[in-house]
Amino acid sequence: MSKVETSRVENQEKGYFGDFGGSFVPPQLKSVLERLDEEFQKYKDDPAFNQEYLYYMKEYVGRENPLTYADRLTNKLGGAKIYLKREDLNHTGAHKINNVIGQILLAKKMGAHRVIAETGAGQHGVATATACAMLGMECIIYMGAEDTRRQELNVFRMELLGAKVIPVKKGQGRLKDAVDEALNDLVENYETTFYLLGSAVGPHPFPTMVHHFQSIISKESKRQILEKEGRLPNMVVACVGGGSNAIGAFSEYIPEQDVRLVGVEPEEAATLTQGTPGVIHGFKCLCLQDEEGNPLPTHSISAGLDYPGIGPEHSHLKVTDRAEYYTVSKQEVLDAFQELARTEGIIPALESAHAVAYALKAAKEMNSDDIIIVNISGRGDKDVNEVKRLLSE
Ligand SMILES: *Cc1c(COP(=O)(O)O)cnc(C)c1O
Repeated sequence: MSKVETSRVENQEKGYFGDFGGSFVPPQLKSVLERLDEEFQKYKDDPAFNQEYLYYMKEYVGRENPLTYADRLTNKLGGAKIYLKREDLNHTGAHKINNVIGQILLAKKMGAHRVIAETGAGQHGVATATACAMLGMECIIYMGAEDTRRQELNVFRMELLGAKVIPVKKGQGRLKDAVDEALNDLVENYETTFYLLGSAVGPHPFPTMVHHFQSIISKESKRQILEKEGRLPNMVVACVGGGSNAIGAFSEYIPEQDVRLVGVEPEEAATLTQGTPGVIHGFKCLCLQDEEGNPLPTHSISAGLDYPGIGPEHSHLKVTDRAEYYTVSKQEVLDAFQELARTEGIIPALESAHAVAYALKAAKEMNSDDIIIVNISGRGDKDVNEVKRLLSE
């Protein structure tokens, strides 16, 4: 086993990835999270639990999804072979559902009947409301009042799915205020309530849990690339917001030192490229912060990547040089969005277009027998209006 992998596993028990991670929360919350960790440890290797998870991945989400060879794009660029991992084909159109279903199944085992979550742009809220409907759980979504106005249609979507959306007026009425309200709810109702976190962030055990449920992406892609090419890829590329689709796309390749792992961020939210160690939202990571340690505002064109922190495992992969992280510009993202649509007939999410943008540059510099896997974290229907507006500017 490689050095990186060993340190990851050794530290996982305490919730640390090297120097990053941990749990910096008030005592009431600490005991709730400790119980969650115990239950997760108990079920994650339980064959019956995993069988149930895989049942829903197949019958509801539609897995396994394909690893599509991008023939026209590859020929046009004249470099490495490009394969696309198609998380955009999942039910609800993105990777988030993999994690949401895993956590709700765990919630049921723990005896909770109520699921709470916070959402910014609404994507995590919609995925949560969807899976709660399917699994018969009460669903409460906290959302900043300002965000409920900007994301009216997603609020309606969640309500259609039977969720209760609570607009949070406190503070600035944004995501951070919604998180605070959701945490208060959890502390008050922990006996019946499960807090569902949507990315590979937050205090222990969330980053480890999200890694576990999203690793299905690379478990599939590794099997698929070995079937198609008889060897591993040279590079795996994914976009990074909080880091959940990227950790899922990377996880099975982390011990494979010859596979380059590349995370791509927006220039306007370059957490890993420019961040420094600090504690935000209950865990330690590389983050964008001012001198007093307050998170700095970010302004990405894709809501899913607009977060000043990053999962602790990515912070560790970065400082140990096991993974590389780069930024792409808004223009490169818009170009990649259109390029994939025109050459492959796939409209990617704006988030995923960040990964595509980097791959377009990298492929040209590589040999024709090299292989790149690009994780298409979601489909772009939700972004078509925004892209239309941006292109007419
Ligand atoms: C939420 C989202 C992301 C960003 O979240 P990660 O946790 O970094 O994966 C990326 N792509 C899509 C399609 C999303 O919905």
